[in-house]
Amino acid sequence: MGIYQDLKGKRIVITGAASGIGFATAQRFVEEEAQVIIFDWNQGALDQALALVPDLKAGLMVDVSSPEQVQAGFEQVDELVGGIDVLISNAGISVRKPFLEIEYAQWSRILRINLDGMFLCAQQAIRRMKKQREGVVLFTASVNGLEGHPLYTDYNASKAGIILMAKTLALEFAPWLRVNAVCPGYTLTPMQKTEYTQEMMDAVNADIPMNRHAAPEEIAAFFAFLASNQAPYITGQALAIDGGGTSGQYLKG
Ligand code: NAD
Repeated sequence: MGIYQDLKGKRIVITGAASGIGFATAQRFVEEEAQVIIFDWNQGALDQALALVPDLKAGLMVDVSSPEQVQAGFEQVDELVGGIDVLISNAGISVRKPFLEIEYAQWSRILRINLDGMFLCAQQAIRRMKKQREGVVLFTASVNGLEGHPLYTDYNASKAGIILMAKTLALEFAPWLRVNAVCPGYTLTPMQKTEYTQEMMDAVNADIPMNRHAAPEEIAAFFAFLASNQAPYITGQALAIDGGGTSGQYLKG
């Protein structure tokens, strides 16, 4: 059961929501009785998500890096629910590679999906929100957009770009639109599980003040709070949810 009464019936689009943080967020907004439409580019994962959460309004095949597919996706949203109140722009990918081995094709692909995709979805959403002079846009950035993390130069650059896009949009469209960038730290999702061995995870956990990864549901709870009318004065921020990871040097003892 949800806890934010004002989210009931709200029209929410969540991208990259067939898995991980996006999926947990979709589940959470369904619990809040919102009308939730998810975008993903993986049809099999979308089918699975819809089977697991039958109360989702729809699951649409959209590659967020394609201007045509994003436009068509939002037109479908118009047809299904007549507009949008909250965008959670979350789809993203990462590849772990030393800087000198990153091919230009990889750099471009990461930036196209992680940053251009957020631009394309935000533009479609804000055009619609402008008509009603009300809305909330939340981006999934990362702590990697706040500080350097070796072996992820392209990813880090994309996430830093998202943070400045969020701040700029918050200024351009205040006071009727709120825009924030959520910056998760290590979160236990398929993205993490495919890139990290258990040994690496144990080492990472030892370096996090809370000594563990976040659960995707914890990030989802933060999105629900930020989308609700309990956060009316929070805008233009990069908000870390990272177990204290970016608070300073963590020395046990
Ligand atoms: P995930 O791989 O579990 O889920 C990502 C989803 O996005 C997948 O369903 C995938 O199919 C979809 N997707 C990828 N590219 C897409 C595209 N072009 N169009 C549409 N859908 C696409 O990953 P996750 O860990 O849940 O990551 C979600 C977001 O959170 C990403 O933006 C990621 O950078 C960010 N993030 C993750 C962590 C972490 O530790 N897991 C930490 C900080 C930030």
